[in-house]
Amino acid sequence: MHLIPTPRKIEIKSGFYYFEEKPEIKKEIKHSFLTDEGYRLTIDENGVLIEGGSEKGVYYGEITLKQLMHNYRGLLPYIYISDEPEFSYRGFMIDSSRHFFTVEEIKKMIDACAVFKFNKFHFHLTDDQGFRFEMKEYPLLTEIGSKRRASEFSREENDDEEYAYFYTKDELKEIVEYCHERYIEVIPEFDIPGHTTSLIAAYPEISCKGENIETKTKGGIFPDILCVGNPETEKVIHAVIDEMCEIFTDKYFHIGGDEAPKGRWVDCPKCRAKKDELGFKNFQELQGWLMNEVSDYLKSKGKTAICWNDALKGGNISSDNTMVSLWYERNNNSINWANAGNKLIVECNTPLYADYPYAVNSLEKIYKFKPKKLKGLTEVGSNSVIGIESPIWTEHVKNFKELAFMCFPRWFAVAEIAWTGGENKEYKSFLETTKFFCDILREMKIPTAPKSEWLGTPQKKFSQLLNYGKRMITPESVSEFLRIQKNEITGGDE
Ligand SMILES: [Zn+2]
Repeated sequence: MHLIPTPRKIEIKSGFYYFEEKPEIKKEIKHSFLTDEGYRLTIDENGVLIEGGSEKGVYYGEITLKQLMHNYRGLLPYIYISDEPEFSYRGFMIDSSRHFFTVEEIKKMIDACAVFKFNKFHFHLTDDQGFRFEMKEYPLLTEIGSKRRASEFSREENDDEEYAYFYTKDELKEIVEYCHERYIEVIPEFDIPGHTTSLIAAYPEISCKGENIETKTKGGIFPDILCVGNPETEKVIHAVIDEMCEIFTDKYFHIGGDEAPKGRWVDCPKCRAKKDELGFKNFQELQGWLMNEVSDYLKSKGKTAICWNDALKGGNISSDNTMVSLWYERNNNSINWANAGNKLIVECNTPLYADYPYAVNSLEKIYKFKPKKLKGLTEVGSNSVIGIESPIWTEHVKNFKELAFMCFPRWFAVAEIAWTGGENKEYKSFLETTKFFCDILREMKIPTAPKSEWLGTPQKKFSQLLNYGKRMITPESVSEFLRIQKNEITGGDE
């Protein structure tokens, strides 16, 4: 039997329940003894009974039933399933800044993720290469920030055409509604203070130098970030949050905080004055302060902030209203954060980045990943891991086919660990199940990577790595990487 994610307890009994077109389903809510997302599915001579801890639980029971119907077309075995997820946060992230995906394409990704009981869609909407949200106040964020002159992400596939896309408010409302129908919460990401070239292109005065720069055409980490010493910056940040919160009505809001080199702040009289006024030792603390300010603002709107682990460098992120998403770090900031009892979402680039080639983040590596057993986590730390998420960054993912190809079937394995917690030991049977669900996605007109890609021979893996290297590595990217490394180590204080 093929089910993803694997339910906690399955008992198959003798006998079959036959039905004409649709089985008759009795649904009950039993919140006294089932968790919110927990459910029990019973199929016997009386038909189908789904009991859920809430409507959500009932919904997950229905999803399991649908998967069973794919397994047993036209009849169902007598069965008892009792199930609940390990993690309350089961996320996928799509970057629509580097490359844009239409509402219909996003909906297809949501359809696929709903099959596997994901419950969080993290939507990366702003970055150096494009601001994709329709703004009323500060309209140039959309008019200028949503456009870039060309696309030059790779050495071989550059495109001189202007790239200009954004989502209207109505389109985003439609996406949010679509997610809610599937019990998926939507988390917008407004990435600050770094990765903001598209904002600065629209309003140069919110950068430290105030110079005109253009929305980036290449990938990377860029020196111009928001000027934290300028009061106008706060107004822009609040305006974006205000307008996003009108559309994105769920609890969480991602405020980025990653890859913000401090060089401009060091040279800026306003930023230096702000740091001194607040009595900070370094500029990492100033960033921590900014994130806390924005988190407080979100709290006043009933929201909880999420930031990338980079923001922990100053050591002053307040755990009061902020959760951290861990993607990569060389020190133990995130681990210490979790060990102190603060909430952590695990999104480690290996194995969870879906834009990395299959040769790097293989299906097997994801399937066997144990988010609660990251090195250094204590028991308290393990219990602070509220879930996992798999991001797909799209510098090198140009269209829907490539997007789906990178995510599926890898997101099957992500769904598996997100639900079960990741003590998975049945890799061989999981491979069979993977083939089964690839067929189902193809029936849904969602492309998946061919088997040769995810079960690659050593030669295949070598060519995946070679292609990846060719696209990623340019002389600029190497020198920039070295510069950033230096800046990160010194914290920009030298
Ligand atoms: Zn400044």
